[in-house]
Amino acid sequence: MDIKRISIYICSGCEIGNSIDIDTLKDISEKEFQITYFKQHPNLCSKNGIELIKNDLNETSANAIIIAACSPRQNTKTFSFDDVIVERLNFREQVVWPHEANDEDTQMLAEDILRMGIAKVNSIIKPIPFIINDFCADVLVVGGGITGITSAIEAAKTGYKVFLIEKENELGGYSAKLHKQIPFRYPYIKIEEPLVFEKIKEIENHPKIKVFKSTEIKEIGGQPGEFSVKLNTNGNKNSLKAGAIVMATGWKLYDASKLSVFGYGNFNNVVTNLEMESLAKKGKILKPSDGEEVKSALFIQCAGSRDQEHLPYCSNYCCGTALKQIKYLREANIDSNAFIVYKDIRTQGHYENFYKEIQNDNRVFFTKGEVKSIAENEEKLLITIDNSLLNEEIQLEVDLVVLALGMTPANSAELNLNYRMGKGLPSLKYDFPDSHFICFPYETRRTGIYAAGSLRSPMDITASIEDACGATMKAIQCIEATKRGESVHPRSGDRSYPELYLERCTDCKRCTEECPFGAYDETEKGTPLPNPSRCRRCGICLGACPERIINFSDFSINSVSSMIKAVNIPDEFEEKPRILVFVCENDAYPAFDMAGFKRLNYSSFVRIIPVRCIGSVNKVWISDALSQGFDGILMIGCKPGDDYQCHFIHGSELNETRGENISETLEKMMLEPERLKTEFLEINEYNKIPEIINNYVETIEDIGPNPFKEM
Ligand code: SF4
Ligand code: SF4
Repeated sequence: MDIKRISIYICSGCEIGNSIDIDTLKDISEKEFQITYFKQHPNLCSKNGIELIKNDLNETSANAIIIAACSPRQNTKTFSFDDVIVERLNFREQVVWPHEANDEDTQMLAEDILRMGIAKVNSIIKPIPFIINDFCADVLVVGGGITGITSAIEAAKTGYKVFLIEKENELGGYSAKLHKQIPFRYPYIKIEEPLVFEKIKEIENHPKIKVFKSTEIKEIGGQPGEFSVKLNTNGNKNSLKAGAIVMATGWKLYDASKLSVFGYGNFNNVVTNLEMESLAKKGKILKPSDGEEVKSALFIQCAGSRDQEHLPYCSNYCCGTALKQIKYLREANIDSNAFIVYKDIRTQGHYENFYKEIQNDNRVFFTKGEVKSIAENEEKLLITIDNSLLNEEIQLEVDLVVLALGMTPANSAELNLNYRMGKGLPSLKYDFPDSHFICFPYETRRTGIYAAGSLRSPMDITASIEDACGATMKAIQCIEATKRGESVHPRSGDRSYPELYLERCTDCKRCTEECPFGAYDETEKGTPLPNPSRCRRCGICLGACPERIINFSDFSINSVSSMIKAVNIPDEFEEKPRILVFVCENDAYPAFDMAGFKRLNYSSFVRIIPVRCIGSVNKVWISDALSQGFDGILMIGCKPGDDYQCHFIHGSELNETRGENISETLEKMMLEPERLKTEFLEINEYNKIPEIINNYVETIEDIGPNPFKEM
């Protein structure tokens, strides 16, 4: 570790200067840390303040600066200086705004934050990025349907070379099977020729796109910037490299044979919405049973969708498709009648115009209801509908029944990832391989592989085209970030990555198993093999490793331990408990800043250490804190669960499980389990902070000081 030459700058603006005693802070720097370079400025973020720092950096040999001012989440660009370590101490949002001015405890808090900051700077190094030598910036698109084709075109337009892999012998996927497309342009009332054929022409002549049809992926290994891809085209083997991957393998229709209630499989004239496309393509719409022209049809919406027994979700395309298919029928035979039975008609945005257009046709009958039975006589299908609006049964006789079937995602295992954690992409509860639907659409749990279109979530063609652009953008961002040795979301720009001191590894496999992103492969023995550009820098492996041999250059076992040990712990008679709070930087830390902005007051007995994820908290920090004399330890992370996910998938859950084990250990040590607590907080729940903190401080005051304080 190089010797640190630290300069400290403290801003006295934004109420800092008149709320705490800055001279005492200067004394602490000099006497406790021998740092004599300490400057105060009334407005450090001003032009003049920045010039002061820049001039000092030119004229002194400082290799690290500490800026005690506003939150590190504010003025990020303003306080960026190349080549030196920059540590920001949050004096404004987390010291003077939420705590009483010129109070002894507020002053002690500021002093400890300064000590922790200096200790941290002394124990970290500036990250040196992981650079791939034989870097590949080409994009691999898997799936030649509308999404994959759009993705390939968009990536090529921005100058990237693209490989497009399609397992069938033709491009186009489902969208090429359609007779017509739902209206996609003003005035949104006319069905359109499918867009896909124009795009196929564009792709086939594009100099930057190489298309592989009838091709399967045999294996994908490597990592962003150097994926190695093995292909099999009709028995011919091929290989290529790629920087990032857009996965657009699309969807499958829900299995209609599971819907015997609607007569599918028993009656020839009950067809799926996809089969209806083939019927319509032939011109006149004819009954499958006898080839007679269809004069009446019933469209059953949500056939198996929004149904806990089948697909609990809405597929978002089937209402529009049914309206389009009604148009097929009405255009094919002017005297035909169409009936539609629905739970709700969901036509979002401009599709509402199309819905109105179809409603205006007086040979189309809409009713909310539920199909109770379907039977067949020689000529017709006989349907009984329980009408939920009129509260009575309706009997219908029609020539054809069309089932609006939902979408299920294609199997992502066809990627054949040669990863320790499996061949496919891990998924959310309905098998769609998205990783965080709130904050990071397109991100899968395999870094550098982006899911697009109906593989990611049920959607129609227009939405798939947009989605392809989004996922392509993410793939390009990944290529560019990886080229610079930087992380992608959510720690975009982070140049640190886990470094392992493998001599002490016991092959326990915790890191390989707990990494949410499959960043580690392993040897036969079980020793981890890191792939740094697959890593999202969450630090969960650091939290997992019982040997404490996984560290980042600026976030390590040692750096956090040093911060913990730097805090001055008052003795038990002073009645000033100390609570260490590990705060996840994704939601909880900004929520603390918001509490500061809103001047919400909470106990100044807390000492906050931001962490990348609460899953990155290693249990050695808990024992360090208890040995140091902290009376309680609170960990605040993002809410776990599929409906509000931890930014690193399961960091919060892991922390809870590990916390349970630690609580048992505390009990064995005759320490109260309440000395360790986990809380979950959404970013907008800042108003809960005073209650969370103050209640916990009260609990700790009730159980009394940590007995280790005396030792
Ligand atoms: S930091 Fe997170 S993503 Fe990276 S290897 Fe460790 S657990 Fe995996
Ligand atoms: S968690 Fe630590 S000890 Fe276990 S395999 Fe990983 S590096 Fe080795």
